Amino acid sequence: MSVFEAADFDNHENVVLGHDEQTGLKCIIGIHNTNRGPALGGSRFWNYNNEQEAITDVLRLSKGMTYKAAITGLDLGGGKSVILGDPKKIKTPDLMRAFGRVIERLNGAYITAEDVGTTVQDMDYIRESTEHVRGKSTGTGNPSPVTAYGTFLGLKAAVKHKLKTDDLTGLRVMVQGVGNVGYYLCKDLHEAGAHLFVSDINQDSLKRTVEEFGATVVGLDEVYAQEVDIYAPCALGATINDKTLDQLKVQIVSGAANNQLAEARHGQALKDLGILYAPDYVINAGGLVNVASETDDYDPAVVKAKVEGIYDTLLEIFTRAEKENKPTSIIADVMAEERFMHPIHAAAE
Ligand code: NAD
Repeated sequence: MSVFEAADFDNHENVVLGHDEQTGLKCIIGIHNTNRGPALGGSRFWNYNNEQEAITDVLRLSKGMTYKAAITGLDLGGGKSVILGDPKKIKTPDLMRAFGRVIERLNGAYITAEDVGTTVQDMDYIRESTEHVRGKSTGTGNPSPVTAYGTFLGLKAAVKHKLKTDDLTGLRVMVQGVGNVGYYLCKDLHEAGAHLFVSDINQDSLKRTVEEFGATVVGLDEVYAQEVDIYAPCALGATINDKTLDQLKVQIVSGAANNQLAEARHGQALKDLGILYAPDYVINAGGLVNVASETDDYDPAVVKAKVEGIYDTLLEIFTRAEKENKPTSIIADVMAEERFMHPIHAAAE
């Protein structure tokens, strides 16, 4: 098993294997790039089938964080960590403290936060071993409303570019997944006058959007073929794929879900269909902005202003993609690379 030769290795600066005999901790920390600053990215606690799967996951995720931080203009690099095992069976406060010690040994090159399988409480345990952790109980709290606000602004940017209007009144938006982010997105869209269509496996979540925002419920399989203007994926990844592309009747895809394109080529496929795609890691970066701002002088107004930058960044991506006749997903990657390929403080050094 070669890590250096792996397709996802992609010039990672550092890949650390952490172990603690007493607690049984096995973790991998991927630090993809720190040209813009320390690598910030959450800790995923997951029962991988094998170590190769865990390495692939951490490499992909940490690389993604580099692109997300860079395109958002944050002075941060990209990293991510995975803890191997079933959290329900092996997670203990001591194991999280041991994980904190692994992070501490990296001297601030990597900062962790919550992800799938870890909680605010876990961040508090990690904090007992290292200060390089965000998302603590004393921190900024639930990032979902901030992520939703960024997604709302990104959707507005897409409407501005594609439909040449600032007015969302009467626009039909299909929101897939009305959980943490989807609910707040619905709220913002409802206040802006949009007509909501919603789908979810959770009946209570659906009921709430019907009662509060007058949303129309759509069956799980009918999402893609809906006669609406915008599709906002806010549940699962990979919903833009060979099967769904044939069904889409929308003009815009703009939602918060991670990894919306099943494969990179689906960005081109959306372009070929004349559908404007707001690249996922650009539009859903509000949560990262929020957690990155979790310092002693956390200021919600500063966070809001930074999140508002998502609107301008997306307009820039859309305009450049049109000019260069390329998919927006490719242009986002190119622009992120332009921003992280060289250390940002090089001139001062
Ligand atoms: P969540 O779990 O609170 O909400 C997801 C919702 O999708 C749930 O209500 C769930 O019932 C529903 N769902 C699951 N399967 C579905 C299906 N087949 N069809 C329709 N609905 C289905 O998660 P969240 O925090 O709201 O995140 C939503 C998406 O946004 C995820 O892809 C997440 O990775 C991404 N994201 C979230 C944040 C954040 O701040 N929470 C930040 C960046 C990206």
